Amino acid sequence: MSFVERFNELDWHDVSMSINAKTARDVERALSKTKRDLEDFKALISPAAEAYLEQMAQQSLALTRKRFGNTMSLYIPLYLSNLCANACTYCGFSMENRIKRRTLSEQEIDAEIRAIKQMKFDSVLLVTGEHETKVGMNYFRKVLPQIKQHFNYLAMEVQPLEEEDYAELKTLGLDAVMVYQETYHPSTYAEHHLRGNKMNFEFRLETPDRLARAGIDKIGIGALIGLEDWRTDCFYAAAHLDYLEKAYWKTRYSISFPRLRPCAGALQPKSVMTDKQLVQLICAYRLFNPEVELSLSTRESPEFRDNVLPLGITSMSAASKTQPGGYANDDVELEQFEISDERSAESVEAMIRARGFDPVWRDWHSVYSG
Ligand code: SF4
Repeated sequence: MSFVERFNELDWHDVSMSINAKTARDVERALSKTKRDLEDFKALISPAAEAYLEQMAQQSLALTRKRFGNTMSLYIPLYLSNLCANACTYCGFSMENRIKRRTLSEQEIDAEIRAIKQMKFDSVLLVTGEHETKVGMNYFRKVLPQIKQHFNYLAMEVQPLEEEDYAELKTLGLDAVMVYQETYHPSTYAEHHLRGNKMNFEFRLETPDRLARAGIDKIGIGALIGLEDWRTDCFYAAAHLDYLEKAYWKTRYSISFPRLRPCAGALQPKSVMTDKQLVQLICAYRLFNPEVELSLSTRESPEFRDNVLPLGITSMSAASKTQPGGYANDDVELEQFEISDERSAESVEAMIRARGFDPVWRDWHSVYSG
């Protein structure tokens, strides 16, 4: 059993029609409930809910504070390699882009760790392109123990692996894995993933199942907003979350909502999501699921991040560099995408405090569980 069976029961067109057919009454009903289902979620992301944003924001803020207090987790991505054997139309690391390629050696990783530790971070997200042979299990076996010594919480965003690989990486200190489906629309997925293993839609779709079975503490899912109709894609992400929570209740989950950003060989989004709609989506996820962690990256602008912070977000990246070696030695030629919030970790920390929140430099759960 995996999410694929549940996925096959859903029809993209029907879901899309049903979201757009939701009325003010459906939204009001969803807002009046204490426990909401996927039909309520559809109402909350529908065009009809745009008029209820203020109420949604108030409820979302209250639910988030009740569950997560005033804690805001901070993490930083550590790009280990920009080698990639896939061709994704929206990514600067795509194998077809003529950029300098680089995989960090152990010495270079040490330099990155030193630079990151100076900024206080104790939670790091390891990112690589997807290159099975050069940046695969052998590389991870070597570098994970090296990095884990220095950080309380270790997450990864790399190519989907087999269940036994995840189980092994867990023994080396891996705590969390982010694996975004990009889009849940199979033919649009095929249009954007032109070469390499990532063309396998189903293998990616089943990755959270393999992760949960391997006992990974936290799994991050989501869609890359802009590839397809954002409402429908985000509904599928919510359905995925709903399935996972029921099937693997011991695992924790987080959702991200990255919007397409400019990169080398830039792609124009098919579905444009406004700032207001992103606020609506964040609140809808929170109202649908009071437990799920919601993560906001530096793809978003400082103003947007500052304003949306209290409404549902539980973790944020800060001071990110999206090129391997970027903390010890900035080389913009290697970037995966341009970041929008370029503030230092210190100034993001100050902003969080100024808004009455407690920034923590590790995963919020590990703050309480020791
Ligand atoms: S999105 Fe990932 S798999 Fe696709 S080109 Fe970029 S790094 Fe490679």
